[in-house]
Amino acid sequence: MTAALAFRVDVAVQTPAHSQVGDLLSYASPDALPPGRLVRVPLGRREVLGVVWACAPAVAGADEDGVVLRPVAAALDALAPLPEAWRDLVAFAARYYQRSVGEVALAALPPQLRGLDVDQLARRLKRQARGSTRTGQPDGADAPPPTAEQQAALDALAAGPGPFLLFGSTGSGKTEVYLRAVEARLASDPQAQALVMVPEINLTPQLEARFTARFAPRFGAGAVVSMHSGMTPPQRLASWLAAHSGQARIVLGTRMAVFASLPRLALVVVDEEHDPSYKQQEGARYSARDLAVWRARREGAQVLLGSATPSLESWYQSRPPTPDDTGGRYQRLAMPSRVGESALPKVRLVDMNLQPPKTVLSSALLDALGQRVGRGEQSMVFLNRRGYAPVLACGDCDWKSECPHCSAYRVFHKIDRTLRCHHCGFTERVPRACPSCGNPDIAPVGRGTERLEEQLAQLLAPVTRPDGGPVRIARIDADSTRHEGALEQQLAQVHGGEVDVLVGTQMIAKGHDFRRITLVAAVNPDGALFSSDFRAPERLFSLLMQSAGRAGRDGAWLQAQGSTAEMWIQTHHPQHPLFAALRRHDYASFAQQQLEERRMAAMPPFAFQALLRADARTQEAAQAFLQAAGAAADALPDADAVMRYPPVPLAIQRVANVERAQMLVESSSRAALQRLLAAWKPILHGLRRTPEGKGVIRWLVDVDPQAI
Ligand code: ADP
Ligand code: ZN
Ligand code: ZN
Repeated sequence: MTAALAFRVDVAVQTPAHSQVGDLLSYASPDALPPGRLVRVPLGRREVLGVVWACAPAVAGADEDGVVLRPVAAALDALAPLPEAWRDLVAFAARYYQRSVGEVALAALPPQLRGLDVDQLARRLKRQARGSTRTGQPDGADAPPPTAEQQAALDALAAGPGPFLLFGSTGSGKTEVYLRAVEARLASDPQAQALVMVPEINLTPQLEARFTARFAPRFGAGAVVSMHSGMTPPQRLASWLAAHSGQARIVLGTRMAVFASLPRLALVVVDEEHDPSYKQQEGARYSARDLAVWRARREGAQVLLGSATPSLESWYQSRPPTPDDTGGRYQRLAMPSRVGESALPKVRLVDMNLQPPKTVLSSALLDALGQRVGRGEQSMVFLNRRGYAPVLACGDCDWKSECPHCSAYRVFHKIDRTLRCHHCGFTERVPRACPSCGNPDIAPVGRGTERLEEQLAQLLAPVTRPDGGPVRIARIDADSTRHEGALEQQLAQVHGGEVDVLVGTQMIAKGHDFRRITLVAAVNPDGALFSSDFRAPERLFSLLMQSAGRAGRDGAWLQAQGSTAEMWIQTHHPQHPLFAALRRHDYASFAQQQLEERRMAAMPPFAFQALLRADARTQEAAQAFLQAAGAAADALPDADAVMRYPPVPLAIQRVANVERAQMLVESSSRAALQRLLAAWKPILHGLRRTPEGKGVIRWLVDVDPQAI
């Protein structure tokens, strides 16, 4: 029987992490199968989805060693094979981020595809084909004429290959540039496709509405599809199939969309390219921004990164040439002005050292908020901590609301009177009395958004709105938006003017085009100034710039109001250079100063890093594994070019009863680091089975880590 099977097919399948199974598994097939074909193959006692990677004639359906291969169970012929460029992207991502091809390939496909057999897929495709209709209506949405700065950026895009970094202030109209750039590419080639990425799911509905309004009348209702983890599996499958078939011309999505199958990709846009959420934090820890740049180059597509506060990596990469430096690879396009009459908000620093001790909201800020409410304007107050209070503590003994499973406190949530661990999820009802000494007087310490909302409601209670009604306060954070549709509803209330003061975490600071917000306040941003993470100042600066960018976006309205936009920052360090640059909205000088520091310290972008992390039952076991791994790395050929730091516990050392440790490796040569990592990988797999590997629950490599 098997002798009739005449081809050997190498298939990428999802193999269990750390199994010793190689990257690809071999199967037999009576027919040649093209690379990229989706197949169903046996794996152990299951049948799984796989992607054909290679196919070659084989004697008697056996591999080189004469081992008879199991046959491919079914080929999903109804779908066109995944394009070569897509396979190259997957292979590159697997190699660069030290994962297996099968893992990356399968994670890149919509989950529902895994469960479908040939018949089910055929039915699904039939439905999909019926659903697609081209309306062919004339272009309905009116596009405003571009501003001079937008036009200059568009001219540069039309003229050069890129990659481009669109350095545009908040409110400079970057989205309009994306829309027009997409339009230009799609108009010049009737099959061209564009990929537009945003960092957060909560930004996709707004963007989708704008793209659909602009393009659906011209290219049909199915021309614009979304891809993000908030969609149901059938929705994700539908979007994926539409992109893969070429029916969808524009894919909008979060980082996962970088792996969409887009056979005619002509343009990739990465909005808010600096945002840390482009870095995947589990499985293959890829940077969707970096992969977007790689993918665009591979496919001959244009790539446009956009931000008001670019990552220092991209900023450096777009530096102009000087007499003794050839400059970066990216072309920088600047749009410094806001659209319309609006100016960037005035930044006001409140020196909290001059306030009575324990002040949370300075009286000056409260006055300013009250005045805005009285004039019918909206304000936004943000604090990067959700819940009511970060700790509950007993005044009589030392008891604090520690999580029994993590080296962290459980957060007090007053709404449902729970103590919740934000790391492992462990949740309990708040005890009636101190569990340690019985004292009934246990009290919240510190402040989260829930408590801030409560406090603002009390303090602003005397204020009335122009219509005489009481102030309306709302909160948006991960807790308030847990239920499906809650975020959309809450955002709609803000846009609809039903909220006077919006309290929230950084979730509300990004991207939204709120038209009536005139004041934005950061209540307590100091923590990040002295963090051990060298990227903390960069993050804080961009977060504050982004937040400021929510204020005063409608200049004409603001003028009619006789009002001005303001960003308030309460800080104990008003002299900090970061704030000085922020006051001037001067990203360039902030970036220059940070880059100088990074250059002196030989840190990214002047060096390349990777972390080896180990999780174990005990901290000793985790560190012993890293020690042994380090010793092995020292013996590798590229060890001289790579600097290795000692193992250390993670900032939050224990989560869900697992001890975590990490070791940083760093090199001024990306290639040397990559070679070392590649040679290290099999050694690390082997170490698991030695005494040093005992007690290690898992290990992972994080290339270009975003948090150290
Ligand atoms: P950014 O993403 O740069 O912060 P947006 O793209 O959200 O800015 O644009 C800010 C506002 O300016 C939006 O309300 C947008 O509709 C408007 N806008 C953008 N370009 C133009 C233009 N050329 N003419 C008029 N309004 C514009
Ligand atoms: Zn006590
Ligand atoms: Zn916990």
